[in-house]
Amino acid sequence: MHLARILGGVLVFCLGGCSLGGATEAADLILHNARVYSLNWPEPSRDGQPDPSAPHGPAGWTPDATAVAIRGDRIIFVGSDAEALHLANGSTRTRDLAGATLLPGLIESHTHAVELGRNLRMADLVGVKTEDEAIARVRVHARKHPDAKWILGHGWDEGAWADRYPDMAKLSRAFPKRPVVLRGLHGFAVWGNAAAFAAAGINRDTEAPSGGDIIRDQHGNPSGVLTNRATELLSQAIPIAAKEEREAAILAGLDELARSGYVAVHEAGVDAQTLADLEGLSKQGRLPLHFYAMLSARDSELCRSWQLKGPDTGESGKLKVRAVKAFFDGALGSRGASLLTDYADQSGHRGVAGAQYQFDQDLVADMMRAGFQVCIHAIGDAGNRQTLDFIAAVQGNADGDYRHRIEHAQVLHPEDMPRFAALGVIASMEPPHAMEDKAWAEARLGPERVLGAYAWRSLRENGARLCFNSDLPGSDWNIFYGLHSAVTRQDKTGAPAGGWYPEQAMSIEESIRGYSSWGAYAGFAEDEAGVLAKGMRADITVMDIDPFDLAAGSPESILAGNILMTLVSGEFAFDRGDKASKAER
Ligand SMILES: [Zn+2]
Repeated sequence: MHLARILGGVLVFCLGGCSLGGATEAADLILHNARVYSLNWPEPSRDGQPDPSAPHGPAGWTPDATAVAIRGDRIIFVGSDAEALHLANGSTRTRDLAGATLLPGLIESHTHAVELGRNLRMADLVGVKTEDEAIARVRVHARKHPDAKWILGHGWDEGAWADRYPDMAKLSRAFPKRPVVLRGLHGFAVWGNAAAFAAAGINRDTEAPSGGDIIRDQHGNPSGVLTNRATELLSQAIPIAAKEEREAAILAGLDELARSGYVAVHEAGVDAQTLADLEGLSKQGRLPLHFYAMLSARDSELCRSWQLKGPDTGESGKLKVRAVKAFFDGALGSRGASLLTDYADQSGHRGVAGAQYQFDQDLVADMMRAGFQVCIHAIGDAGNRQTLDFIAAVQGNADGDYRHRIEHAQVLHPEDMPRFAALGVIASMEPPHAMEDKAWAEARLGPERVLGAYAWRSLRENGARLCFNSDLPGSDWNIFYGLHSAVTRQDKTGAPAGGWYPEQAMSIEESIRGYSSWGAYAGFAEDEAGVLAKGMRADITVMDIDPFDLAAGSPESILAGNILMTLVSGEFAFDRGDKASKAER
């Protein structure tokens, strides 16, 4: 069916006057000798079975094309090498992909890419075991940035170090003049030197804000670490980076994601400053990826200004603003997620949600009525139920293509599963979270409720639309880890054998759609992204493994995949340039 459509497209194209290789219709770039999965066939059934017309048979999946031809920012042909190469003329670039796998460009539909970029520009303390090791790494970083007025670092593990927090003595000796601020891996603690504490005006008379602690020595002086809400005392003192540095951080984050195979990100929460920076980069044509920005509902002034303008159609440039990100409840690990009944491991406690969690329902409702998609963080079964109730109350009976999203949709009561389809709400979920939370999720929820947690298959069976993402940088954004988690419900070590609640696993087609065509729908981009077909945007990801093939026999091998090429609107955002380019002429 899809093949006939593709061939039909070529026929019309040629009847329309292509003299083969002629100047007007020639391709700019032809990628050939590839295993192409266009996804340009009907959706799989709710149980994950491929559509009968999909390129799938008793022997498994087979690629449905070997070549893609591109002109400008569009795909002009998907099909065989011979036909594609007919579209070449003297100035066409051709790339022999040597049997690599070519997929629709991958979409990361819940990111904090700007935060990732900032982290990448700081001293990297991930994995440090001792205070001395951390200081040594900060020294190397500081030497590379002699002009930075403040020295920033990220990634020491405040959870693992909770019983032996460092103090400021050694750090202050190593850096007597420049302020140093080192954020913990999870953002719940900061460690600073004396210069930083002095610059922030934190001393023995400073009181910690409620919900936070200033760690003190035996004389009552701040000893160098602030936790939870008190971290703001130090982080607010850091001067706002200059525009060049802010732009460099954004581009560093996006470049890392291009290298990771993504052609588009859905950024979950953008404030006014960041949006202004993004608009500048977009106008100058410097954004390497499509950037779907969710306005942060915590920046109500920004939201109110967009409420008057209405959503951005995004027809020019790569930046699009037509969504709002809000939080309804907390997280499950810290028992902040809102549950219908008590936590299994803390009786009398049900988490925190709604107004107590600063969910501004008037603002969010106004933005919905102004035509914005809302993407609401909800984790617990009560949090999800009340979020669905809220969406139903505001727009449940209104006709319209709203595509509101619940971000994470992590724990659901069975009665709420069908409401996603009924309300047209998309469940935006992270396959890696299931793997990272499996160690303690059942302790929080107990054996019954855990059946409705990370319940991708149950949601699909109830007709819900999903999209997949990593919520980076909190989780590893490696696409092969994401696909492996979705298909196997096993972590990187292969545990547990057989998978964690494996009945909720996705097929490989569903997993890849979760990171491509379903993500495109969640960002109102399915008319030009998510599948490979003539007329679609030339957004392409090339990798050195065939996940469709591996998923059946050796899914653990998916973890060893590498991204070779990321093409965004016909331009290379990443090109590893070795295996992917056996021959170029
Ligand atoms: Zn997030």
